[in-house]
Amino acid sequence: MLILFEKDYTKAQLEHVMEKVKATGCEPHLVHGLFKVTINIIGDDTRLDPEIFKSYEGVEDVIAVSKPFPLVGREFKPEDTVVRTHNVTFGPNHFVVIAGPCAVESEEQTLRIARAVKKAGAQILRGGAFKPRSSPYAFQGMGVEGLKILDIARKETGMPVITELLDVRDLDDICNYADIIQIGTRNMSNFSLLKEVGKTRKPVMLKRGMLATIDEWLMAAEYIYHEGNTQVILCERGIRSFDSKYTRNIVDLSAIPVIKHLSHLPISVDPSHATGRRDAVGPMTLAALAAGANSVMIDVHDDAESALCDGAQAITPHLFEGIMAGIRNLSKALGKELT
Ligand code: PEP
Ligand code: MN
Repeated sequence: MLILFEKDYTKAQLEHVMEKVKATGCEPHLVHGLFKVTINIIGDDTRLDPEIFKSYEGVEDVIAVSKPFPLVGREFKPEDTVVRTHNVTFGPNHFVVIAGPCAVESEEQTLRIARAVKKAGAQILRGGAFKPRSSPYAFQGMGVEGLKILDIARKETGMPVITELLDVRDLDDICNYADIIQIGTRNMSNFSLLKEVGKTRKPVMLKRGMLATIDEWLMAAEYIYHEGNTQVILCERGIRSFDSKYTRNIVDLSAIPVIKHLSHLPISVDPSHATGRRDAVGPMTLAALAAGANSVMIDVHDDAESALCDGAQAITPHLFEGIMAGIRNLSKALGKELT
C-alpha cells in the first residue's frame, strides 16, 4: 500500500500518519519525490484500513498496490496519459512517426535527412549527438555541436527534436536544444540518471533495457514519474534472445498490449534498433501500429553505406515514403490520427 500526501502537507500531519502506520505493526518507508511525498508500507498491511488513512489530514490518497510500479500503473491512473510536445500528441487515437539519422554527422547530412523525412510526413526528428557505442573506438557523436545542428534543423523544419542523454552533465544542454530526452537501452537502469530527468519537465522517451523484463522497465519509468515528470513515453526496442543470427534483437510486439494493460503511459516502437535490418523496418512498423503502439521511431539515412552509425538498419528517404504511405492506409483503417 502507498500513502500519497497532498502538496501542502505539514510535518506534523506526516509524523501523525507515520505513527499510525507503526501502530499497525508495519514499517513506514518515506519516499521524497519532487512531485509527491509518499509512505510505502512495508510488511503485512492487511490490518491497515485505507479508508481510515485516507481521512487523515494531509493525505491525498491511499492506493492498494499489487504491482511494484504504483504511479505508472493503471491502478493509480486508469485513463491513458497523453504526452505533448508542440503540436505533436502521443496518446490514444494518435500515431506519431519519429524519423531521422541514427547519429548527427554534419549539418548538411542532418538538414538533408530532416527535410526528406518532414516532406514524407514524419512529425518528430531523431538524431543522436551523444552515441552509446559498444566500442570506444567507434564514432561517439558530435556532442554539443550535434545538438546545435539539431536545433538548426528544428528551426528550419518546425519538427520537434528527440536526442539521447548519456551523461547527467549534458542534461542542461539537452534541455536547451531538444524537445524530448531519449534514455537509451543501456541507461534504462541508470537510476541516478532517471531521477535527474525526472526532475525536469521535458518529455522523456524511456527505451526498454535490452535485458529488461516488463516489470523492470516500468519500475524504471516509475523513477522518472516519482520525481514529478509525468511526461514519459515508453519505447520497445527489442530484447536479446538466443537467436541473433538474422536480427539484432527480438521485437517484443506483445509488450505493446501488455504495457497498455499494465500502464497508462504511451508506447513507441523502434523497429530499426529492434531488428538491425532495413528490410524488416517496414513490416515491423505496420505490425507495431496494428498492435496498438502510439508511435514508431525509424532510422533514415540518405547515404547508408557511409553512415557513421548503424547503416545496415537505416532506410532511404524513398523507402521511408513508402512506409509512410502504408502507415497512412493502416491508420485510416484503425481510426488513428497521424499527429
Ligand atoms: C538510438 O536510438 O540511437 C539507440 C542507441 O537506441 P538503443 O538505445 O535502443 O540501442
Ligand atoms: Mn543506432
